[in-house]
Amino acid sequence: MNTGKLIVFSAPSGSGKTTLVNHLLQQDLPLGFSVSATSRPPRGKEENGKAYHFLSTTEFRQKIEENAFIEYEEVYEGAYYGTLKSELHRLWEAGKHVLFDIDIKGGLNIKAHYPKNTLAIFVQPPSLEELENRLRTRGTESEAKIQQRLDKSTTELTFSQDFDVILVNDDLSQAKREVVRLVKQFLHS
Ligand code: 5GP
Repeated sequence: MNTGKLIVFSAPSGSGKTTLVNHLLQQDLPLGFSVSATSRPPRGKEENGKAYHFLSTTEFRQKIEENAFIEYEEVYEGAYYGTLKSELHRLWEAGKHVLFDIDIKGGLNIKAHYPKNTLAIFVQPPSLEELENRLRTRGTESEAKIQQRLDKSTTELTFSQDFDVILVNDDLSQAKREVVRLVKQFLHS
C-alpha cells in the first residue's frame, strides 16, 4: 500500500488542538481526519463516525483482541481510545494524508510506528491556569472530570520535548497561520 504522511496533534485536554485540527481540515489540502474509536459516551452534539466511532467497552475490547488498533489506550479510567488500522487504510486509499487529534502517548506511539512519515506537533496551552479556564468555560465535564484532566495535563506538559514541533497556543489566529505553514512545508518535503 502507498502510505501517505501522518500529522499528529497532541496536547493536554483544553489546549485548543481540536480547533487547530478543524482549521486545517477547512484548507484546500489533501488531508483526512483519523476518526478514533472510544468507549466514552458522546458529548454534546458529537456524531458517531464523525467525532469518534463510539463503541461499548465490550466492543472495544473485542477489537483489541482482533488486533484492529495501531495504538490504543485507557486514557481516563474506564475510557478507552484508539486508532483503528482500517481508518488509516481508508484515508490512504483515498489519497489523503492523515491528521490525528490524539493524546500524548498515542501521538508518540504513532510517531514510533511511522518515524519517517510523521510530523508530531505538541500544542502547548499558555499556562495551566488558562487550561483550567478553558475547561471550565467549555462546561462539558463534571468537576471530578475537570480535575482528572488537569492532573493528566500537568504530567503531559513534560513530554513536549519529544515532539517535532511545540506550538504555543496563546494567540489563536497566529497559531492557525503557523499550523497551515508547518503542514504545507511538511507535505512538500
Ligand atoms: P476527549 O474525551 O476530550 O475527546 O479526548 C480525550 C483525550 O483522548 C484527548 O487527549 C484526545 O486527543 C485523546 N484521544 C482521542 N483519540 C485517541 C486515540 O485514538 N488514541 C489515543 N491514544 N488518544 C486519543
